[in-house]
This record gives sequence, structure tokens and C-alpha cells, in this order.
Amino acid sequence: MNDHFDVTAAPNSAALFARASRVTPGGVNSPVRAFRSVGGTPRFMSSGRGAYITDADGKEYVDLVGSWGPMILGHSHPDVIAAVRAAVDRGLSFGTPGVGEVALGEEIVARVAPVEQVRLVSSGTEATMSAIRLARGFTGRPKILKFAGCYHGHVDALLASAGSGVATFALPDSAGVTRSTTAEVIVVPYNDIEAVRAAFAAEPGVIAAVITEAAAANMGVVPPLDGFNAELASIAHADGALLISDEVMTGFRLSRSGMFGLDGARQGWTPDLMTFGKVIGGGLPVGAFGGRADVMSLLAPLGPVYQAGTLSGNPIATAAGLANLQGCTDDLYRHLDATALALGDLASAALAAAGVPHRLQRAGNLFSIFFGPDEVRNYDDARRQNTTAFAAFFHSMLDAGVYLPPSAYEAWFVSGAHDDTALARIADALPAAAQAAA
Ligand code: PLP
Repeated sequence: MNDHFDVTAAPNSAALFARASRVTPGGVNSPVRAFRSVGGTPRFMSSGRGAYITDADGKEYVDLVGSWGPMILGHSHPDVIAAVRAAVDRGLSFGTPGVGEVALGEEIVARVAPVEQVRLVSSGTEATMSAIRLARGFTGRPKILKFAGCYHGHVDALLASAGSGVATFALPDSAGVTRSTTAEVIVVPYNDIEAVRAAFAAEPGVIAAVITEAAAANMGVVPPLDGFNAELASIAHADGALLISDEVMTGFRLSRSGMFGLDGARQGWTPDLMTFGKVIGGGLPVGAFGGRADVMSLLAPLGPVYQAGTLSGNPIATAAGLANLQGCTDDLYRHLDATALALGDLASAALAAAGVPHRLQRAGNLFSIFFGPDEVRNYDDARRQNTTAFAAFFHSMLDAGVYLPPSAYEAWFVSGAHDDTALARIADALPAAAQAAA
């Protein structure tokens, strides 16, 4: 067999990091993986099964990252692997329409009521980029309103005050994004409905769309205040603007229909467009945007808003995504909710016992812990936390075999494979980590 790389020959994370750093900036292909904000050498993972991942040194960790969301059923879930294997046997990519993308599109539309039509892309970034272009095309307006601390991928226009990745590196924004690009983006504090009202009042008829994370989870988890999303929809709609609800992280994770199922469906607000990623790819590159049919019908080839992709709707990726989504049953959501509840409480109790000021914040089964005493309602609040204490906590957990997100600004992810044994391993690691953070 002609192996292009041999995982068994990989010596260890330190050696791989040295090699990677020679050929790749910072040794990583996405910045938060580099451990910059917590220090130390990033762990290079070589395999994953269930709730566990194993690094190149052969050390096993309980994984609370889950590839940042996609691995909702756990790693190497047999149904997902079988679907991918079967798809691989049929061919890798055709650049034509195919059966897998039809089935995945139908599954998304069936689960999320506001999505009448959907288009598949290859990442969450592409989804939000395309959604804002479509909103501008539909309304004929230039501006976008976003919230400080909300991350919508690395779309130029949306990299103004963009949360975790940027916060981790303490950069206000990204170099390379021109002033004219951000001049068309209005940034207001999250959970501040009066600021939204003021922005619309200052420039009526100019804002094409408000884009928001359905529940903010990229500055740590900051749930919307009760009624915030509903008010947002009503203010945007009163001005003729669209509401884009970004559910790349929360979609199909918090419920069958994501955060919309916990909030919009109950409070009677409806986004015009929604964006997805992560879970709908099952670990392969898939994103999607969808919503009102009259808006979606403006997309090429029907309408004048151009959007395309060589690998959009790829058969392997859509097979993985469909199998993953089919595993997202009511039982799974009950398990995720109970596991996240138990785990958050365990971590909070350990920190309290060690006298570490902290706030546990939840949006459904997503949660994170802020290392500071006060409730966090927006990005300014989030940035007041003690990231040094988090780094000490993180490394103690890592040494004890628990892989947390390597940033104080990220959510913790549980999966269907996190069982009592995995929770017990985390519980064993917590007291020492809490002491390290004290
Ligand atoms: N939107 C949200 C809410 C996200 O959390 C992310 C990624 O974390 C994105 C968009 C971008 O997705 P991707 O990394 O697939 O481009």
C-alpha cells in the first residue's frame, strides 16, 4: 500500500509541531488550535473513538471539543463511518447534482421550520458570506448590523469585533480587512436592544440585515436575554431589513431545530435566513444557508445573486452529514441536555470548592465557564475574565487526560458518547484543576 503519511510513524506532538511550524504559519491550520492563549505545545491527534481522542504520543483524553461541534454523536460513530465508506465506494466527487445532497437538504428543511429552501456550501464561513450577499441582493441595501463578540466565520465584513479567535489573540480586528468593508458594518453590543433600535433610527432603510448568533457562543456562552431575538426580528422587519440567525454552532445541537426550537418556535419570531455548519457535516466540510423561498429564489441560476462551489454538496460530505443528522434523535438531545447539566454543575462545584470566582453560563446544552465573578451579557463583560486562571485550569485538565477548548472564550461540547465513565474521569480531574486556577 502506498501511504502518503503514516500516522504510526508520527513521533510525538512536539516533533510534529516543529515540523508543522516550518511549513505552516504557527504550525496550525486554524489559529485557536495553536494553544497560544494557554501556552504549551498543541496536541496532534491521531485518532478518536466515542468520547475519547488519542494524540501522537499515545495519550488518551476525554474530548470536550468534539471538533468544535460536528462530533455530536461521538468520534468514529459506526453509522457515520459506514455511510462515508459506502459513499467513498461510489466515487468522490462529480461536480453534478447527486442524491446525497437532495437527502441532506430535505432533512434540514424538515427539521427547521423557517427554512423553506436551503443551499449547501462547504463551511460555515461560506454560509454566512453567502447569506449576507443574498440579503444585500434582496433588499438592495448596503449595510449589515452585527454584534460585538459574535463570530460568523472569517468573512471580511464580519471580522469586526468577532469574538473567540480574535479575542484569544487580543486583536481588535483583522489586518487585511479594508476600512471600506467595515464601513458597511455596524457593530453594537450583544444583548443591547436599545443600541439596535438606535442604529436603525440613525440610518433607516439602509441596513440589509442583522446577523446574530442565535445564542452567542464564540465569546464563551452568552445566551440572549429573554425576548432579545424576538425584539431583534421585530425591529429589523419594521425597517424592511432581514434577520439572519447564525446557527452554525447551535443548529441541530441544542434541539432538532437548534436554538430556533428553544427560542424562536416558542416566542414566535422567525429569521428570514439561517446559516448552518458543523453537525450537518458529521466531521466533513459542509455548511448551508437557507430560509424564505422568496429570498432564496434570488440565487443563481434563478436570480441575480451569484453563489457557487466546486465541492458544494459533495457526496462524501453529504453522506456523513446525513448520517450524523439521522443520529440526532430526541433521545440524543435528552442525553446531551442531561450530560451538559451534570458536567457544568460538576465543574462549577469544583471551582467553588477551591474558591475560584467563576460564572457558569448555558444556552441549552452548550455551556462555558467564565473565570470571573460577574454575569456575562456581552463581549466587554466576557473580556474581563481571568484568562491566566483559565490557562492553569486547562493545563491541569490536559495533564489529567481531559481535552478542553484551549481558550477561555469557547464553549464546551458534549456528545452522545459522553457516558458516566467519561464524566467520572472528568470529575476526578476537576479538583486539582480548580486548585491550579485558585
Ligand atoms: N458561525 C458561527 C456561529 C461559528 O461558530 C462558526 C465557527 O465556529 C462559523 C460561523 C464559521 O464556520 P466555519 O469554521 O465552518 O467556517
